[in-house]
Amino acid sequence: MKTSIIAVGTELLFGQTVNTNASFLSDKLNHMGFDVMYHFVVGDNPERLRAKIREAFADTDLILLTGGLGPTQDDLTKEIVAEEMGAELYLDEQALEDLKAFFDKRGRYMAENNLKQAYLPVGCTPLYNASGTAPGFALEKDGKIAICFPGPPREMKWLWENGARAYLEGFMDKKMFYRVIRTIGIGESDLEMLLMPLIDGQTDPTIATYAKEGECTLRVASQRDTMEEAEAAVREMTDKVTELAGEYIYSYDDEELNEVVVRILKEKHLTVASAESATAGMFASRIADVPGASEVMHSSFVTYSNESKIRNVGVPAETIEKYGVVSPETAVAMAAGARAAAGADIGVSVTGYAGPEADPGHNAGEAYIGYAFGDNTGFYAVNTSRSMRKWNRNYFMLRMLRAVYLLIK
Ligand code: ATP
Ligand code: MG
Repeated sequence: MKTSIIAVGTELLFGQTVNTNASFLSDKLNHMGFDVMYHFVVGDNPERLRAKIREAFADTDLILLTGGLGPTQDDLTKEIVAEEMGAELYLDEQALEDLKAFFDKRGRYMAENNLKQAYLPVGCTPLYNASGTAPGFALEKDGKIAICFPGPPREMKWLWENGARAYLEGFMDKKMFYRVIRTIGIGESDLEMLLMPLIDGQTDPTIATYAKEGECTLRVASQRDTMEEAEAAVREMTDKVTELAGEYIYSYDDEELNEVVVRILKEKHLTVASAESATAGMFASRIADVPGASEVMHSSFVTYSNESKIRNVGVPAETIEKYGVVSPETAVAMAAGARAAAGADIGVSVTGYAGPEADPGHNAGEAYIGYAFGDNTGFYAVNTSRSMRKWNRNYFMLRMLRAVYLLIK
């Protein structure tokens, strides 16, 4: 079903509030198989809101609106939606009771203007709000549907989970199954090229790629008459994706790379230690983000200066002198040194230029990831060609995770 989202609120136009409601709802709708065509943002202005509702209904059948359901004068979403869909407002007994109970429970006096919130359009499906004062509602007329949510994200999400989603499921004649496949080590455009034979001319299942901070995510989705058929179609397509891009895939279930790494380390009773220059502990921190990290990491080292690399993880001074501090040789020595100093099974390291500056003859984004596991030592050369410090440091960290993943998978 073609869908629009209209976020109402002048504060959104001022840039004070980020329109997270639209991204939340879009994500949920998309996963359910609705086609979200438009996001509109409109201030608290009746005529402009009316115009956007008409524009949205001209091209789409479902509109989700957020904001402007509160008690104040400028809250007018409900009134305009009801008018546009030819519905009167009535005082809803349940909404009124909820409202009174809300104030009683908090020992607060209910101002007169709050009553406004207990009115709903005739013929609507009320979405009673146990997480705040303003109820939402869904209103259907002549094949067009509007669903109104309060603006506060917490309340909007609560109503989504407790009413709106189930209401919309009633309109889905097909069943949707999807799988989120996560990759690392390949850019979005390269991944798309690789999968072009599958993406080209796709109808069902669909394959969509999303880039996110150095990682690339694939979503394979199918809508069929039954869930079994949809699942089978996704499974078949997933096999084809694996054939073409399997070496970059680290999860078929939308897991984070650090979670996958810690899980496998635990399963195999292995421990890891890092020696980190440019990332200054980001790898160790990401490992520690996962519950139970203490089973797989006892120590790691932030070795930012040359001296620290020599003193703390035993990199030979000659190695740094001869090959340079940002070099494969130094990276490997750091990894082996971290492993020895920590008594771990696996050592992993990074030495590189986070940027925006780099030493002469080098560029920001150049780094070497070293690893040592049993007799297997080696390195990956990384060059992001970017000068964005934050981005580079995050990417180096991901590549360290990937290096460990490739050793243990
Ligand atoms: P209230 O009863 O609180 O007035 P309301 O339904 O009238 O609810 P708004 O007044 O439009 O909602 O918004 C209340 C607050 O919710 C805003 O100050 C803002 O912080 C947040 N909010 C509103 N719209 C959005 C949005 N699209 N994305 C994220 N936050 C939002
Ligand atoms: Mg308001």
